[in-house]
Order: sequence, then C-alpha cells, then structure tokens
Amino acid sequence: MASADGVYNYSAVLMGSPIQLRLFEHNEALAGAVFRLIKQYENRFTVNREPSEVMAVNRAAGQHPVAVSPPVYQLIRCAKAASLLPGSAFNLAIGPLVKRWKIGFHGDAVPPADEIRQLLTLTRPERVILDDAASTVFLADAGMEIDLGAIAKGYIADRVRDYLRREGVTAGLINLGGNVHTLGAPDGGWTVGLKKPFAGRDALIGTLTVADKSVVTSGIYERYFEQDGHCYHHILDPRSGYPLDNELLSVTIISRDSLDGDIWTTLLYGMGVTAGCAALRQREDIEAIFVTRHHEVICSSRRQFQFTLLDDQYRITDNIA
Ligand code: AMP
Ligand code: MG
Repeated sequence: MASADGVYNYSAVLMGSPIQLRLFEHNEALAGAVFRLIKQYENRFTVNREPSEVMAVNRAAGQHPVAVSPPVYQLIRCAKAASLLPGSAFNLAIGPLVKRWKIGFHGDAVPPADEIRQLLTLTRPERVILDDAASTVFLADAGMEIDLGAIAKGYIADRVRDYLRREGVTAGLINLGGNVHTLGAPDGGWTVGLKKPFAGRDALIGTLTVADKSVVTSGIYERYFEQDGHCYHHILDPRSGYPLDNELLSVTIISRDSLDGDIWTTLLYGMGVTAGCAALRQREDIEAIFVTRHHEVICSSRRQFQFTLLDDQYRITDNIA
C-alpha cells in the first residue's frame, strides 16, 4: 500500500513478530520473495517447531554430530566465538535455561535455585564441538541445547539486505521486530524510533536518523513476567542463570551488519554502560545507545546517526570520551 511519500509498505507475521518491508516501488513479487526468504531461514534456526536443523542438533546432544547447512554452521560458529569471549554475557548454549524459565510464555515462574544450578552445567559453550571440514555440530553432553534466539533475526536481516541489493533495490527498510535494516538514504536518511520502555506500543523516547545501517534494540520490556514485585526479563545472565540485573532498560546498536548489532546488544547488557562504552572504543564501526532505569539516554558515540529526543521524562547524558 502506497503512502503519500511514495513509500510502499508490505507486512507479514513471521518469527512470532510483525515484519515490515518498505520499498519505493510497488512490487508484490519482491515483497513475497523477501517474506519467503525469511521463512526459510526461520525454519532452519527455530527451536520451537519441526523441521529445524538446530532442533536436530539439539536432539542429538550427547549422542552424535549432526551435519548442517552452510547458513546454520556459519551462524553457530559465530555464536560460539561470541560466547567464548572473556566474561561474555552471550551464550549460544543457554537453551536449557531459556526452556526452563519459559519467560513470556504460559507457566513462567522463577525456577528453584538448585534446578538453575544444575541446568547451568549444561550451558558450556566449549562443549559445542564444531567440525569445519564436515560442517557438523556436536553437543557433547546429553541435555544441552543451542538457542539462536538472540541473533537469528540479525543474521536474517543481513541476508534480506543482501537480497534486496542483488535485486537492484537502492532504498528500502526491513523491520524484523527489533532488528531494523536500512538501504540507502531517502530524504537524507531513514528515521527509526527508539521505543519507550514499559509504555504503549508506539511510545518513543526519540528517533534516530541513519543511512545504510542496521539498528537493533534489545530491551527488558520486550518479554518478562513479574513475581513478588520483581521483573524477570528474557535476557539471561549465563554466569548466574538468572535474568541480567543492572541499570539497563534497553540497548540499541547502530552498525553495518545486523548480526553485529544482535551480538553486541547482549554483550553490552552484560557489561553495563561504563565497561560497554570502554569496549566500544576499540570498535569504531559499532555504536550503542543505552537507556537506563534513571531515564538517561547514553550514546557511546554518534558518528553514524543523529538522535532526536522526544520525551521530556528522559535526558541525554552521553558518555563520549
Ligand atoms: P534478544 O531479544 O535479541 O535480546 O534475544 C533474546 C533471546 O535470546 C531470548 O529470548 C533467548 O532465546 C535468548 N537468550 C537469552 N539470554 C541469552 C544469552 N545470555 N545469550 C544468548 N542468548 C540468550
Ligand atoms: Mg539480540
């Protein structure tokens, strides 16, 4: 459907999220091909529905290696590397804990501490054994489970970007529900909203203007439950087995690739603002916006985007060194 500014919006529900594609041409066939591409990758990566290559790997835990397709191997390899970074909050083998907590699904409740301790022993990333030559993945201990929920959308958003480029699209936007990828710079750039945590669906703290960049947000308000006055959200600390508990409400990453954005949102959740900004000084290509419980909006730097504050309950307190 065309809007006044010549943008055509196409939408679908995939990966449990509303998906939006914006183009500057009326092209149902292209939109259909993009949604099919997303579906194909979703089917490979999901841990919730058969047939899925990742579920086949998980089912064979403690038994035998499983040969997987190049995209699945590539993503698991990358996820393992991120998991093995010193002190990493990212862990691709977090599956048993994610399944046990069921955060945001029917029956979610705080599990007994001894169960969490026991499940932590099944989340060791070094026990994900990869064989590059055979393209196989072997989970060395029975009960282990890979979960790519934190990065599958980032990987898929990058593949959609590549596909649109190959098809000759010079300006477009794909929103995979939290992962936004932009091509080109119509009217000087794309405007992407920064969501206001625990507010209405459309409430924004502000907007970013970007061109040819990925914008990924991960927030504790996305999926959570409350018990005894405490908010238990869906980003787990692989060191404790409990949701990460710090000053952060959301982390947004602006980067070239959405996969980097997805990995870094989780890494930075674990680091917090100060250590996170220090870590990003080594990565000029990756920039973060932290939103804290004290209603601060903190940018690690602002080279690749402009930010406009819209909500006067929040204030910008940049940590730019
Ligand atoms: P995101 O919304 O991108 O932050 O991803 C959250 C999802 O990643 C969760 O729903 C889990 O499936 C998974 N997950 C939770 N904690 C971790 C973690 N520490 N490392 C990797 N994946 C995680
Ligand atoms: Mg993520």
